[in-house]
Amino acid sequence: MRTPFVAGNWKMNKAPDAAAAFVREIAPGLNAIDGIDIAVCPPFLAIPAVAQVLGGTTIGVGAQNMYYEAGGAYTGEISPTMLQGLCRYVILGHSERRALFGETDEGVNKKIKAALEYNLTPIVCVGESLAQNEAGETQSFVSGQVRAAFAGLDSWQAAVCVVAYEPIWAIGTGRSATAQQAGEIIRTSVRDVLVNMFGNDTAQAIRIQYGGSVTEGNIADYMGQPDIDGALVGGASLKASFIDLVRAAAI
Ligand code: PEP
Repeated sequence: MRTPFVAGNWKMNKAPDAAAAFVREIAPGLNAIDGIDIAVCPPFLAIPAVAQVLGGTTIGVGAQNMYYEAGGAYTGEISPTMLQGLCRYVILGHSERRALFGETDEGVNKKIKAALEYNLTPIVCVGESLAQNEAGETQSFVSGQVRAAFAGLDSWQAAVCVVAYEPIWAIGTGRSATAQQAGEIIRTSVRDVLVNMFGNDTAQAIRIQYGGSVTEGNIADYMGQPDIDGALVGGASLKASFIDLVRAAAI
């Protein structure tokens, strides 16, 4: 049995004071929900303040990115050693980073290996564009991203990773994939690929989230799909109703 997992990706929202005030507001409600793992992923600057508020709760903290080197001349970057101790999770390969900041499959693979080396759980994002979706290329593209992301990992390393399938056309658009569509792609293009790479036992242990315009109103549909184990949530994680969303995912 995989424990459901919902993570909020705050993107470039909430400076440290606002972030701390927000988690003070939502932590009691989130902490009272059983049977689900929960994380919030603030911008780097807000991570220490959020981690301090959430100390002693069951709510995890994640980063939205990191570099794969431990330190050195990498202007503007944040290393896994800097996140260690503050974060349990790190989102890697989000489509916004791939599209706007030139992240490649190869770089994402290096980041996953670095995260694992420093005991951070990677939330590995994959997902196709609208053009790829309309051209019928979703399965081949997403399968390729999964293969590239997990290349060279041992089974025990793969088993602790989380995958977020996020069709790019559904992110921040209000146009979510149907639960059936998402469940089918996750099964055929994520879970089955992981079965091929690592065997059934490992693949069945890996948690796979759906992401893309998830709200408290539609999360239950996604959770009803056998291969969907939770959600990576953008916009709806910035409001106190995130508590309702997580509660609906936990049922
Ligand atoms: C995301 O940024 O990962 C995301 C899924 O955003 P939204 O929920 O706003 O579509």
